[in-house]
Amino acid sequence: MITLAPGKMDGKEFVSHAPGYWPDIAPELWNDWKWQLKNRVTSLAQLEQHLVLSNEERSGVLLSGDKLALAVTPHFFNLIPRDNPGDPIRRQVIPRIEETWESPYDMADPCGEDSHMPVPGLVHRYPDRVLFLVTDRCASYCRYCTRSRVVSGVGEQELHTDFEEAFRYLEQHTEVRDVLLSGGDALIFSDDKLEKILSRLRAIPHIEFLRIGTRVPIFLPQRITPELCAMLAKYHPLWMSVHVNHPRELTIEVKQALERLANAGIPLGNQSVLLAGVNDDVETMKTLVHKLLMCRVRPYYLYQCDLITGSSHLRASVAKGMEIIEGLRGHTTGYGVPQFVIDAPGGGGKVPINPGYVLYHDNEKIVIRNYEGKIFEYPETGGDQTVQFAPQREYHDEYLYS
Ligand code: SF4
Repeated sequence: MITLAPGKMDGKEFVSHAPGYWPDIAPELWNDWKWQLKNRVTSLAQLEQHLVLSNEERSGVLLSGDKLALAVTPHFFNLIPRDNPGDPIRRQVIPRIEETWESPYDMADPCGEDSHMPVPGLVHRYPDRVLFLVTDRCASYCRYCTRSRVVSGVGEQELHTDFEEAFRYLEQHTEVRDVLLSGGDALIFSDDKLEKILSRLRAIPHIEFLRIGTRVPIFLPQRITPELCAMLAKYHPLWMSVHVNHPRELTIEVKQALERLANAGIPLGNQSVLLAGVNDDVETMKTLVHKLLMCRVRPYYLYQCDLITGSSHLRASVAKGMEIIEGLRGHTTGYGVPQFVIDAPGGGGKVPINPGYVLYHDNEKIVIRNYEGKIFEYPETGGDQTVQFAPQREYHDEYLYS
């Protein structure tokens, strides 16, 4: 049985939970990423060997199997306590019956990716950048995955990326300067397979910037080998967006994996999804962003959870997201404050959502408030006075709270 050290459940410390539920495993196997993948927890029987499941979880495992597969690496599974179905790590990866429910707002493809796919597997929605879906597989599966229609290979759609056609499209589209590899998770590939993709992209002269969106350093830190890092470093500028939602995910092993990536010169950003019962409070997010900075990762986005079918039980309110940003901005290091965004349903792209710091703006002045609620004015004296201002709320005395 896993034992989490008392006082460590809030996740402020970097701790290792290995070998946890696998007490007899040899360290060389534990540290082998292929062993971790082969020994993922994928069935109800395996879950029940280690956890006391609630009825909601057991039914969820039985009934969600044709929507999104169950798979959790041993490394990540060790973060899950045996008895608490409300645990923030557990809620992210163990299915629940609510996944089979549909709310009126649910969508199969909330970001409208399929309608912006000129070539199978290549999403071209923004003018100068593309999303390249190179695989439908991940190290573990997140129950709120925005691409659950294709990810894991059991859902209603299949991903059939046409690599040659995608490379041809990119060669012809000279306006594309930025390619984001995602899926699925590109770091699930062997070094050789991943290098073939990266070298092919680097051979296209107008592609300036490569990015990989990945949760592998968190689910499978063993994959971040020195060899992988050395290979990635050949393709700079290459940036990476990782995905951490709760401070307990930042274990010693994950911290070391992130340091290896940073030492290879890869700038790291984090994308968290705002999830009910996981990270929807200021203190949890503050602990998370502090730990990310210690791992040399810049908190980049806090996403409002997409309206993906079956995720309504994990969605927190937009107001909660704004409250979190309000609780971080000015109260902690600016580098630690992510941009809160909503990916506009249907394919509108990311829209920044900020607490109301601008109280009034016309061509003479802007009235702003700071993190303490104090009000300030700044004159519009310089620059182009012909700028058209977006409609603002009327400026009333009630904004002048003390
Ligand atoms: S790692 Fe990313 S793509 Fe994979 S299941 Fe999680 S959210 Fe979806």
